[in-house]
Amino acid sequence: MIDLVGAWFRVLALADFEMGKHMSNTLKLVQGRAYLAIPGPSVVPDAVLQAMHRPSPNIYDGELIDMTHGIIPDLKRVARTRHDVAIYMCNGHGAWEAALSNVIAPGDRVLVPATGLFGIGWGEMATGLGAQVDVIDFGTSAPMDMDRVGQALRRDKAHEIKAVMAVHVDTSTSVRNDIAALRGVLDAVGHPALLMVDCIASMGCDVFEMDDWGVDVAVTSSQKGLMVPPGLGFVFFNDKAAGVRDAMTRVSRYWDWKPRAAPDSFYQYFGGTAPTHHLYGLRTALDMIHAEGMPQVWARHERLAQAIWAACDAWGQGGPLSLNVADRGGRSHAVTALNIDPPLATELRGWVEQNLGLTLGIPLGPVGSDDPAWHGHFRLGHMGHVNGQMIMGLLGGIEAGLCALDIPHGQGALGRAAAVIAGV
Ligand SMILES: *Cc1c(COP(=O)(O)O)cnc(C)c1O
Repeated sequence: MIDLVGAWFRVLALADFEMGKHMSNTLKLVQGRAYLAIPGPSVVPDAVLQAMHRPSPNIYDGELIDMTHGIIPDLKRVARTRHDVAIYMCNGHGAWEAALSNVIAPGDRVLVPATGLFGIGWGEMATGLGAQVDVIDFGTSAPMDMDRVGQALRRDKAHEIKAVMAVHVDTSTSVRNDIAALRGVLDAVGHPALLMVDCIASMGCDVFEMDDWGVDVAVTSSQKGLMVPPGLGFVFFNDKAAGVRDAMTRVSRYWDWKPRAAPDSFYQYFGGTAPTHHLYGLRTALDMIHAEGMPQVWARHERLAQAIWAACDAWGQGGPLSLNVADRGGRSHAVTALNIDPPLATELRGWVEQNLGLTLGIPLGPVGSDDPAWHGHFRLGHMGHVNGQMIMGLLGGIEAGLCALDIPHGQGALGRAAAVIAGV
């Protein structure tokens, strides 16, 4: 019986081989390690996975408790703050709501300078909590215009705006905003609003300095630059934000950051059972980040992003592919949004996934998925556990897809990317 099955497989293999000779363009090259190059969840390091693969620990005593105490200062070193952090068992949307729940009451006004869907989405979260949300929409391919933000703040003579809610890197557009400049605008106007920043796609990837930039509340989650599976949300807050929270008439018990940041007993860190396995993963991820060093982590992401931009510029010189953000200074170092004639983006994503085991990111905006134009956008995630050979593989895979689908493109893209990676 075994032999019969074996013989049958040999026949199949031979048939495949014979077919391959004549139809080499349909030969799939998917066996091997797949590469999920989407902007979150990011690639989880094997060391993080291994740290999580263990029996449940005691949550009342011992190793887990000590380890969690040690995680707090190391998280703050990633956010570059000496202030407080609260940890939640949630994704980024949960962290958004957690942050808002501590400082925004029904009827409060907030200002949302949006540069993509995530800014709009965080604003909607505030609307859901009863806030009056003023959105300034800066479109989908350029950073916010600080003059217009300044005008909006200046018009608010009564200082009704309680918070400015900014997204550092909007993952839908790959726009990166200048948060230090935004602080400068608030200071120049003399406006007391809290500066709240979504750093979900940037923390551990792009330079972010919570204290030096005067950020009052910073929000992130585990599954992007922090290299841990989705499931942990983090809210960093300074003394000014803590004061605003203390002045609230009501804060929902579960989202309250106060006991989480300064727990009397261990369960208060998490408002209940600890996210045991995620904590082991996070411990290892933080060890990796700090062993490399924050400046080096940022420099690595920057260099890899520049290699991607170099390849995309070269492709674009002979075809329809283009980077979504024209201004280099306004681009994320962790996610890149690209535009091409529809439906080529969807075809390219499909080809590299089915033939190479490489998954690229779908568009989030600028149009809905029922609009044919949606198929003219895609995104690359290059956040967290990524190195030079992975990025060269990503770019090589895209080049193969451009060739296979006969999509016109400029030559020399991989050579240009390699020169950037090589630093020459
Ligand atoms: C990923 C992301 C979110 C949402 O996070 P979820 O974990 O999907 O809820 C919010 N903001 C930004 C900037 C992101 O990149």
